[in-house]
Amino acid sequence: MANTKPIYFDNHATTQVDPRVLDAMMPYFTEHFGNAASRNHAYGWNAEDAVEKSRKQIGSLIGATSKEIVFTSGATESNNLALKGVAEMYAEKGNHIITAATEHKATLDTCKHLEKKGCRVTYLPLKGDGLVDLDMLRDAINDKTILISIMYANNEIGVVQPIAEIGRIAKEKGVLFHTDAVQACGKIPVNVAADGIDLLSLSAHKMYGPKGVGALYVRRKSPRVQLTAQMDGGGHERGMRSGTLNVPGIAGLGAACEIAQKEMPEESARLRRLRDKLRANLEANLEEVYINGSMEHRLPHNLNMSFAYVEGESLLMGINDIAVSSGSACTSATLEPSYVLKALGLGDDLAHTSIRFGLGRFNTEEEVDYVGNKMIEVVNKLRELSPLWEMFKEGIDLSKVQWTAH
Ligand SMILES: *Cc1c(COP(=O)(O)O)cnc(C)c1O
Repeated sequence: MANTKPIYFDNHATTQVDPRVLDAMMPYFTEHFGNAASRNHAYGWNAEDAVEKSRKQIGSLIGATSKEIVFTSGATESNNLALKGVAEMYAEKGNHIITAATEHKATLDTCKHLEKKGCRVTYLPLKGDGLVDLDMLRDAINDKTILISIMYANNEIGVVQPIAEIGRIAKEKGVLFHTDAVQACGKIPVNVAADGIDLLSLSAHKMYGPKGVGALYVRRKSPRVQLTAQMDGGGHERGMRSGTLNVPGIAGLGAACEIAQKEMPEESARLRRLRDKLRANLEANLEEVYINGSMEHRLPHNLNMSFAYVEGESLLMGINDIAVSSGSACTSATLEPSYVLKALGLGDDLAHTSIRFGLGRFNTEEEVDYVGNKMIEVVNKLRELSPLWEMFKEGIDLSKVQWTAH
């Protein structure tokens, strides 16, 4: 594999733009360069048509109407707008927000900000399989609770939450429900009506669209959700998000949604088969490997595994022709190993040797076989050099460490 690009298995971090998406975007960089807010000429009308088409395509994917789609710069902004917008708009009603410990930083850091502004936030712990405990959620709701924010599917372990049940609980208690659906949209069926969702964040670059564009779904009926704008200006997007619209990006997001909706059944079946093949290969040929998070409630293209008795950094170095993410501190800006894996109860050792395999539209079966075989080769090689592995093989009880396996 020398001199070639690494095999891309990091599709939860971002995805390659689908060539069909790029085709849909190109005209809005060139001849149709108008401002969608220009009402007096064809340049503006053409741009506006593209934006309205995209709203329909997004709405169709998630079961929403066009008027419920607010364009943003991505899901980080969508999450900020949802949480801060609700906290400010509904301050009279209450100041309590419920979220989970394994949310994306765009949610957790926004909650931290809101705590400084006087909000109270409950961070629900997760069960060992990565799922929210619904009884705990119910118990956390009080008369000051205004919002529940629980992600649809986790970006590290791919665990899919019981969203429809959470939606029902929220409705029962008269609390708004926001979900960060970045990893779920376009990958598994998402429907804001069936799931009882009031606010939903999505991002184009996680579904084969361009970076820097996303949307927030904002329910308009039963209930009509109101938000305090976080960006003031020309009053675009029904006053909820001012700023000239990114027309090429928005056209790309719409096209990405349409393709995903059309191809989802076939694509998810294909990726599930490949993912399961990778897992089977690893489990058949390596001892002491652990799956992180529920396998049953999981995105079809995600596999997150820990490889005991290897060193995280050496493992990553050994597989440097494969682009993956790791729960190890060495790959991230912070020194802590993955907070998501720690929330599942993993010890530092297993968190450090975890690998997230994120399969995607452009991966082939040959790549899946290569990655599996390479992992086996490198893990075996590292273990041969490991005194801990030798002791383990001799049957020595190495530690009182609780190895958490699921
Ligand atoms: C990538 C991601 C985000 C952030 O989206 P951007 O569009 O990159 O800002 C938020 N939540 C989840 C779950 C993600 O995976």
